[in-house]
Amino acid sequence: MCGVFGITNHKDAANLTYLGLYALQHRGQESAGIATIASGQMYSEREMGHVADVFTQERLSRLPGYSAIGHVRYSTTGGSMLCNAQPIVALTSKGPVALAHNGNLVNGSDLRQQLEAEGAIFNSMSDTEAIVHLIARSRERDVERALIEALGQCRGAYSAIVLTPGRIFAARDTWGFRPLVLGRLGQSLVVSSETCAFDLIGADCIREVRPGEVVALEADGLRQVHQFPSERQARCIFEHVYFARPDSEIFGNNVAETRERFGAQLAREHPVDADVVIPVPDSGVFAAIGYARESKIPFEFGLVRNHYVGRTFIEPKQTIRNFGVKVKLNPVRKIIEGKRVVLIDDSIVRGTTSKKIVRMLKQFGAKEVHMRISSPPTTGSCYYGIDTPQRRDLIAGSQSVEDIRQFIEADSLGYLSEEGMLNAVRNGDDPHQLYCTACFSGKYPVVREETQATTEVGTE
Ligand code: SF4
Repeated sequence: MCGVFGITNHKDAANLTYLGLYALQHRGQESAGIATIASGQMYSEREMGHVADVFTQERLSRLPGYSAIGHVRYSTTGGSMLCNAQPIVALTSKGPVALAHNGNLVNGSDLRQQLEAEGAIFNSMSDTEAIVHLIARSRERDVERALIEALGQCRGAYSAIVLTPGRIFAARDTWGFRPLVLGRLGQSLVVSSETCAFDLIGADCIREVRPGEVVALEADGLRQVHQFPSERQARCIFEHVYFARPDSEIFGNNVAETRERFGAQLAREHPVDADVVIPVPDSGVFAAIGYARESKIPFEFGLVRNHYVGRTFIEPKQTIRNFGVKVKLNPVRKIIEGKRVVLIDDSIVRGTTSKKIVRMLKQFGAKEVHMRISSPPTTGSCYYGIDTPQRRDLIAGSQSVEDIRQFIEADSLGYLSEEGMLNAVRNGDDPHQLYCTACFSGKYPVVREETQATTEVGTE
């Protein structure tokens, strides 16, 4: 759960990277960082917190140069500490290198143990640092070949950008788990996790970095450096369900439109007699629009979200605590009261939040609450860079749909089928060959190589 952004050949490289990261803030709220290069010297600023809080004008002015990369991070297993913030900067025998990474290497712990056994000293808990060590220790003389050699040893998910003197490299794993797109802004080339960052700075999207491809963004254009063979792709379907911004184009599909198609398919699979369709904001909104359009039941914003609640919200006093979900979401009584409500959410993780929302709607006068989920039951963890709990903590990991319905106290519950979800992202090719659905289907495209679950792999 991270976002990366990079730009070459622009006098305002650091400022534009700041804006790019601002657009990618939803991909990680724990830390933000930017690295630039000027006259062969690397500069970097990293801090815990949101992009707008980390980067003051004064801080941005300490980042000279015409090329920059940036990173926003969210992590649980790598630890919420400044040492894990990116980009990671290193002075190597091949020159200075800064690296920012979105994804999760399934052999990250193995690589780390092997490097440590050979004397490498790590400054962070993150598996991203292993890639930097592999570049630094490569026998190849130039950084380009060292990077290819390093990436050849990485298994799992990476969408990585690497800042070096004269160019930025952009690389995507052979499965294409995480998105990575290339764009142009005047004479500058840009790279980003999502196209919404291009929209903000006025850049045009050129194309995706292809699965297994390594490209160089240089002053005189884009150059393909290497193409690792890619037998089967495994784009993360959950980017469409929840993670990416609705105004982005991901894997050739607009996210908002895809979510509407999920909602429409959900209405066909699980129709119900009701008076109003309401989303759990924000990620349920477009699926709810799709459900409402298909079912011809009116769409309303029946829950209002407080956008100012951060992860650090502390309930003020023991005696008045237990505001729970009410701090984040509040029903609109006029819309809910006396109505049979279809409530649309993107997924159910532990079930506790859904239960609170259903109860709250009933307290505000809803006659019936029919919960509809715009993805299949989440039955397994993700090892490729999304922070999902262990299977034992996922309610659908051990309980049937009827058990879950009873637990959340809904009048009915329906999930989108895997086939329905895949059909909604079809754009010519067979989606079974293009997408990862492992957290829903249990079909993991790459297995973790470490002793299963004894070593946690850092989530980026
Ligand atoms: Fe995405 Fe789920 Fe696959 Fe992880 S396991 S990459 S969240 S579809």
